[in-house]
Amino acid sequence: MTWRSIGVRLTIRYAAAFACALVLLGGGMLLAVRQSLYHAIDDSLREQVVGVRRFIEEHETRLGRADIKREFRAHGDYLQVIDQQGRPIYSTDSLRELAAPDAGALGATGRFENVSGHGGVPLRFLSRNVEVGAHRYTIRVAAPLRDLQRGLGEALGVLLPLFPVVLLLASAGGYWMSRRALAPVDQITRAAQSITADRLSERLSVPGTGDELERLSQTLNDMIARLERAFARVSQFTSDASHELRTPLAVMRTTAEVALRSPAGAEDYREALEQITAELEGTSQLVENLLLIAKADAGGKQLQETPVDLVAAVGEACAEAGVLARVKGIDIDTRLPEEPISVIGDAHALRRLFLILLDNAVKYTPAGGRCIASVVREDRFAVGIVRDTGIGIPAQERALIFDRFYRVDRARSRQQGGTGLGLAIGRWIVEAHRGTICVDTEVDRGSEFRVRLPLA
Ligand code: ADP
Repeated sequence: MTWRSIGVRLTIRYAAAFACALVLLGGGMLLAVRQSLYHAIDDSLREQVVGVRRFIEEHETRLGRADIKREFRAHGDYLQVIDQQGRPIYSTDSLRELAAPDAGALGATGRFENVSGHGGVPLRFLSRNVEVGAHRYTIRVAAPLRDLQRGLGEALGVLLPLFPVVLLLASAGGYWMSRRALAPVDQITRAAQSITADRLSERLSVPGTGDELERLSQTLNDMIARLERAFARVSQFTSDASHELRTPLAVMRTTAEVALRSPAGAEDYREALEQITAELEGTSQLVENLLLIAKADAGGKQLQETPVDLVAAVGEACAEAGVLARVKGIDIDTRLPEEPISVIGDAHALRRLFLILLDNAVKYTPAGGRCIASVVREDRFAVGIVRDTGIGIPAQERALIFDRFYRVDRARSRQQGGTGLGLAIGRWIVEAHRGTICVDTEVDRGSEFRVRLPLA
């Protein structure tokens, strides 16, 4: 148990809230009882005043003062009757020392007050003026508060020792409940700790309770699944990259070894070096592509976001690809509109995207074929189209050609200087521009790649 655990913190908060509730409840109860006891005392005092008034009414004319005094004794230990001139007509011993109240300040209903009486006895007083015939009397009656105070004291005496006991029991219950509720969290934590990089295929058990803990386990499982896929992609990428680099390195090494082993003339060395240079060119391209993909994966490759004229970008890519096309005897037909079509993006990346598509179109189209590049506006999109009359792509391969290192015909692609990364980079550029890329193709008839990008 640590002080920072949720269970302990919950228990402390629960106990604090419970203690406040107990204090409020106990205090409220005592106040209510006190209030009701005072009401009972006040009612009885009012009744006493009514009784004394009735007595004065009945006997005032018939009895002399001495008789009245004698009769008043029957009205209890706390009574004082004062006449209009402020002279006491009668006062029990316990009230004799008290000064007469100011009759003018008593009002119609009289006045209640708590006063210490004879010998410090706490008393509740009612002083009230009554009119009997032509006379006005001030009647003062009182009741001792000792019983009330004792009763309240006893109630407090019962409640106070109970308070810590109830609080302790409630806190223990609260702690037990919070531990029970949080036990699955400990389980999840232990299970999650056991899942390491080499055990990413494992999953947490999902409790199936439909509550937050089920959601937590499910969310963690989804996260582990994403991590597993990302790990798999990274190791696949690393092994593919190593594999791709192995072949050109082996070719270069063999070429150099063969040239060195047998004594040869300058012409043979030149040939060997030319072969190595050609391999190096392809390898440099591959390494550059690998670097670009690695940066894109790490989120480090940031593209610019400025208005770019797609017509100009495609035009420049056509001019660049034109050199290779001419060598192969392929005609690039550029059909671009007069006016610019703007998209938001990175001019360099967009040029590279269309160069990849045009380069492929030239690579996979036999000599004498045609490539057509065009840009059109469709709704709120700019669409760049690269069409060729080449070898086409079999239907079952269409979805795969955008994957890294995927090549329909490995040997052919390599022969053409392909690395299998062009379309993967192309798709990344399109997606970074919030666009889409699709291909429409037929074997031996040609392919059409369409790139849709939102207009600026
Ligand atoms: P590569 O460097 O091999 O060209 P890409 O990623 O650019 O790699 O393309 C992947 C594969 O898709 C290519 O190897 C090729 O088989 C196929 N491909 C791409 N463009 C075309 C096209 N215009 N015509 C026929 N096949 C194509």
